[in-house]
Amino acid sequence: MNYTNDYRVNQKNNGEVISVEVTCCSKKIGEMRFKDDSSITCPDCNTVHRIKFHHNHFHITQEKQNEE
Ligand SMILES: [Zn+2]
Repeated sequence: MNYTNDYRVNQKNNGEVISVEVTCCSKKIGEMRFKDDSSITCPDCNTVHRIKFHHNHFHITQEKQNEE
């Protein structure tokens, strides 16, 4: 599969989330451990992908940074 942007969430057999593999700019840029405030930055577009925990859910956010 060839997505521009993708989050692959890896789970254990019991459903517990282990990690999130991030694809940005059509490239796999790495894997985030599933913990609050884990982040990874795309080397091509400088977007920061970040996990944010809340009490009964979590977000995966994108922060666009200004290019210099
Ligand atoms: Zn990117």
